[in-house]
Order: sequence, then C-alpha cells, then structure tokens
Amino acid sequence: MSVLHRIEHLHDALAWEGDMPTQGRYTVGIAGEKFFREIQENGRFLGTVCPTCGITYVPPRLYCERCFAHLEEWVEVPATGRVHTFTIVHLDLDGNPLPEPRALAFVHLDGTDGGLVHYLGEVKPDQVCIGMCVEAVFKDKAERKGSILDIAYFKPV
Ligand SMILES: [Zn+2]
Repeated sequence: MSVLHRIEHLHDALAWEGDMPTQGRYTVGIAGEKFFREIQENGRFLGTVCPTCGITYVPPRLYCERCFAHLEEWVEVPATGRVHTFTIVHLDLDGNPLPEPRALAFVHLDGTDGGLVHYLGEVKPDQVCIGMCVEAVFKDKAERKGSILDIAYFKPV
C-alpha cells in the first residue's frame, strides 16, 4: 500500500510508535484573566453582557459571538445554576479506574446564557439529574491559583 491508497482502517496506515515530549503554555486571554482573578481573589463569577443582543456570556467574552459587538459591560453572576447535562466518569485521563466514579456536569449559571463544565460533589453519581440546582464550592482562598480548579466542585442546593 502506498500513501496514495485510501485507508479504510486506522491500523492499515504505516506508523511508528514513539513519544514526543512537548510543552505548551496557553494564555487565558484578557477576559479569561479577569474571570479567573475574580474567582481567585473574591470567589465570584464575572460575565460580560452584549448591549445589542442582551446575551450574558460566562465565561466572559470580549466580543459577542452573534453580532461581534465589543463587550465592555462586566457583571457579577450567581455561583448557582442548574445541571444542563452530565456524565459519570469511571477512569482517569490515563485510563486507570478512579477510586470512586465522579460526576462531571455542564452547569448553566443562573441569569446567564453560559455556564461551566465542572465536577459535582456532595452528591452520589446515581442521584445526579438534569435540572438539579447546584452551587459552586470554592477552595479556601489560600489554595486558589487562578484556575478553574479554584472551584472545588458544584454541590446540590
Ligand atoms: Zn451581540
């Protein structure tokens, strides 16, 4: 088979095995910087509002995805929301079984048009349901590093 043949199955492609060490660093951008600093320093969520569409973006954006308006209005948004969708995770990123299954959810934050993907806590995975009211639990301020993991999890309320 040459490289010009159509490959129907991935294992039919010639390949060599190996590891390629790479390192990368991605900035969170201007809006992300402000969003994560607010979480780190004050344990609060910020969003941006489009004056034309009325959309409240969380995580915040600098430009409206619908009308391309520059977004300059920042608002504090609640740390409460509802489970929009969820999944139960049984393996870690390396494929190893977790000690306990964990629930991951997309939480639609109240009063916004956005939300966050995060762990659910203080609830058994089989008790999670779509529409469940939840609230963010932040780590102690001394433990926060300006990342999404400054939120320990969302808990039912
Ligand atoms: Zn807009």
